[in-house]
Amino acid sequence: MQVKVFQQGMLSTNCVVISHENSCVIVDCAYISKDIEYYVTHNNLKVVAILLTHGHFDHCGGVNHLLQSCNCQDVDIYCNDKDIDMCFQAASNPWGIPSENCVVTKSLQEGRLHLGPFVFDVISTPGHTAGSCVLLIDNYMLAGDTLFCRSVGRTDFPESNVLDMNISLRKLASLDKDYTVIPGHGQITTLLEEKKFNNYLLQALR
Ligand SMILES: [Zn+2]
Ligand SMILES: [Zn+2]
Repeated sequence: MQVKVFQQGMLSTNCVVISHENSCVIVDCAYISKDIEYYVTHNNLKVVAILLTHGHFDHCGGVNHLLQSCNCQDVDIYCNDKDIDMCFQAASNPWGIPSENCVVTKSLQEGRLHLGPFVFDVISTPGHTAGSCVLLIDNYMLAGDTLFCRSVGRTDFPESNVLDMNISLRKLASLDKDYTVIPGHGQITTLLEEKKFNNYLLQALR
């Protein structure tokens, strides 16, 4: 399995292509994600599904463009039900950052998700948004905007909830295994390091 991270869009979203042989799953896709599109087509990868960690425009606003340029319009787009409306309105984000509306076709829910050769464990982590999810695959944690390197996602949006965020952070901290954490923005880290040095996470555990 190969994991490739691309920083995309005006907010430098970490968008991830996970591939195995000729198949891939794409996690989050900011507008416009030409590097991903080039990588997918150049390596002849068949897109099995697109997963969204949450519904913010900087994570889903490039999906529509990607579908067209990779010629994979029939692929399912997964997001948690609670964030679907946000995806559909990605183009009208309050910052006016270029994005396209994204039509989610499948509900991303807590539990195991088999997609072609890939097996994800989905953890529901509301807080940053009501539908935020963290995805685990092998030794990787795709943390969306829930957990960052030495920081955590914003909870000052109307769609956020601080109490939920604390519960979600506790959930992540309770995982025994260590993971390479690929956050929605910024530097890659490990869960073990964050459990030791992330003051926001430590505060949520108190
Ligand atoms: Zn976000
Ligand atoms: Zn974000």
